[in-house]
Amino acid sequence: MTPRTDDVLRAARAAGADGAVLTHPAHLRWAAGFTGSSGVLVVSAGAAHFVTDGRYDAQARAEVAGAEIHVPGYRLFEHVAENGLLGDARRVAVASSHTTLASFNRLVGLLPDVELIPLDDFLDAEIAVKTEEEIDRLRAAQALTCEVLESVLPMIVAGVAESDVAAELVYHHLKRGAERMSFEPIVASGPRGALPHARAGERRLERGDMVVIDVGGVLDGYSADLTRTVAVGEPGAEARRVYDVVLQAQRAGKAALTPGGAGRAADAAAREVIEAAGYGEAFTHSLGHGIGLETHEWPRLSRQADDVVPAGAAVTVEPGIYLKGRFGVRIEDVVVVRAGGAETLTPMGTDLVVL
Ligand code: ZN
Ligand code: ZN
Repeated sequence: MTPRTDDVLRAARAAGADGAVLTHPAHLRWAAGFTGSSGVLVVSAGAAHFVTDGRYDAQARAEVAGAEIHVPGYRLFEHVAENGLLGDARRVAVASSHTTLASFNRLVGLLPDVELIPLDDFLDAEIAVKTEEEIDRLRAAQALTCEVLESVLPMIVAGVAESDVAAELVYHHLKRGAERMSFEPIVASGPRGALPHARAGERRLERGDMVVIDVGGVLDGYSADLTRTVAVGEPGAEARRVYDVVLQAQRAGKAALTPGGAGRAADAAAREVIEAAGYGEAFTHSLGHGIGLETHEWPRLSRQADDVVPAGAAVTVEPGIYLKGRFGVRIEDVVVVRAGGAETLTPMGTDLVVL
């Protein structure tokens, strides 16, 4: 990979700092290619150092690009301080959303001459913009998850428990090469589908159920995130109507995604469709989120956020309608935001599947 330590330094400078200390695994992977779970990347003018423990010695040497590698043992922060790895940096950016208070306090104690600058959104905007190589990986992850869902559809019949469907989804992901799941699959049938984040439970599917399935696997470090709502036998006129409204809302949300556009504008475009159909109160979450090395990244497509969507961002578009005690419908794709419009990375149709 091409190291991004220069981008880290640029982002630090933009925030008034002259160096950065990174520990979040997704940041280590993004900036230096390290896929392990423990390390410290130190960046200052003209130098980058990667510090990890003995477990990751060989792995760091095989993977890390653009930084000098140190394997001191377990006292990683101490090694940074004792060896002056921050060089002349005196104002050092820390990604506060991904740093424990304990780690922060240890750094404060070890680096008395350095002012630590906690930045909640450090590197978010840089990480949001995907390279074509990253987009290919997201596309491959999304394709794998679609393939798995297709293969599991035949077992979605009356009498099968939600948890059985979830178990098959996990099994086939791992069997087909996923590193792990992006998140625990949601399989929510009938009235449980009206709980947007219901985990798969013991409920058995019944004829006429709508079943919300939200699932994704991680491939090559990149997360998939897919939701389809399927029907077990004919679901009836209202369920079909609600499905159609959600689908129209998703199309409107995708169409409203433009490089440099506001995330809230895409949310509003989808929400308008749902409100016009009389279900405004039943769309209880925001439209979508960035996705990449992590399942939930910046930017948010939300009424509650001012995030601006950059060209090259990969985001989910996932409107839903949840009718308490009855059923829910959500449809979710991953798209990449380009000058010509949103390109869908999900190779699966969105017509209602009646099983
Ligand atoms: Zn999802
Ligand atoms: Zn999602």
